[in-house]
Amino acid sequence: MQEVEPSFRESVDLMFDRAMAHLDLSPGLAAKIKVCNSTYTVRFGVRLRGEIKTFTGYRSVHSEHMEPVKGGIRYALSVHQDEVEALAALMTYKCALVETPFGGSKGGLCIDPREWDEHELEQITRRFAYELIKRDLIHPAQNVPAPDMGTGEREMAWIADQYARMNTTDINAKACVTGKPPHAGGIQGRVEATGRGVQYALREFFRYPEDVAKAHLSGGLEGKKVVVQGLGNVGYHAAKFLSLEDGCKVIAVAERDGAVVNDAGVDIEALKAHLNATKGSVQGFAGGRIIDSAAALELACDILIPAAMEGVIHKGNAARIQAPLILEAANGPITFGADEILREKGVVIIPDLYANAGGVTVSYFEWVKNLSHIRFGRMQRRAEEARSRILVEELERLSSDQGLGWSLAEDFKERFLQGSDELALVRSGLDDTMRGAYQAMRREWYARPGIDLRVAAYIVSISRVAQTYRSKGL
Ligand code: GLU
Repeated sequence: MQEVEPSFRESVDLMFDRAMAHLDLSPGLAAKIKVCNSTYTVRFGVRLRGEIKTFTGYRSVHSEHMEPVKGGIRYALSVHQDEVEALAALMTYKCALVETPFGGSKGGLCIDPREWDEHELEQITRRFAYELIKRDLIHPAQNVPAPDMGTGEREMAWIADQYARMNTTDINAKACVTGKPPHAGGIQGRVEATGRGVQYALREFFRYPEDVAKAHLSGGLEGKKVVVQGLGNVGYHAAKFLSLEDGCKVIAVAERDGAVVNDAGVDIEALKAHLNATKGSVQGFAGGRIIDSAAALELACDILIPAAMEGVIHKGNAARIQAPLILEAANGPITFGADEILREKGVVIIPDLYANAGGVTVSYFEWVKNLSHIRFGRMQRRAEEARSRILVEELERLSSDQGLGWSLAEDFKERFLQGSDELALVRSGLDDTMRGAYQAMRREWYARPGIDLRVAAYIVSISRVAQTYRSKGL
């Protein structure tokens, strides 16, 4: 039995309050920052399979201290107002932490996307988008959605097209939503962005031996045993990059109907292919033994990465978690109650605000690209090419002056002069953002004895939001 706990939104508010205890903010301003500004609920009908089906959707705006407000649209049967509001609040703090100039918002539609065919989903999505566009809850300057659980590039392309149809003279129409496919105004690297951000977050954490020691670990990422919960977009990319590029061993992956355990490391690509073929079931996967999904969270490992839903680590299982380091790739995977238990155990938690901010960071690049109407990175590339050329010439001149007699090999020179493509620019921009945000968080972590990384993250975010409010006046 799961013990009674605060709701998701209350949980986020309680985490906010913990940080507030360390900040010198007027109670009035604190209350203003914390509260969710508005939530729009819409019920609309779509004629499907010979009858009218009614759907319920939400778009919540947590804070408009900066506009547009930003946040994904989730498709799941579990979507409800409290959840959407909690997620919108997390967007406000997340954006402030990684310094994307947005307020926080979130949307949701109560639907099981697996129940509907593609053309039906298109009809439903367009109708939902129509309702939101009519109220400026989708708008390039006011409210810019993105993918979340149950949605992806396809849905974003439909939303963008719906907006363009309803706003034929808006030259910035494409910037009304991010996470679009690259051929439809999207940007390279957006799909992998949240998982990539998880990787960069862990790399940054492991750059500081004293931080690693706080989690009772040592050394680098190489060889670390990782358990990933959820092999959706975020979990899949995180697991893939960490195992292929950082030498982590993903010893277990938990999914809806079971978990795959393999001490030698789960083959992520093979498991993903299996899940795609079975509509998300791990049953019958030959690359490991299958155990209960909930039990996988409690396995002995170095790093636990919950990458699916909120509230999966709660008062009922927190005491049994063995991982000394947890990275929240999902939004709100640890309840307020569980957070308390884990902290007492000395577990280090890299909080969602920071850990999953890669998605919105690259969304920001996409939005800027759309508004600039220029291929992303074009200017930077020109400058970089010019710099590289000078460097190559200098190196060769130096070599001949010194009588060393070597010249840069042609193929190396070619690659060197190539500059960076869009994907490389997105990745380096993301890496830079993740590093900067970690350092801001870390400064607080070390400056205020006794606090944890989550409180540090909230302190940075709340201070920045408060500063914006103060400078613009209420
Ligand atoms: N849904 C993602 C999140 O929770 C991305 C939001 C965005 O890109 O706007 O951060």
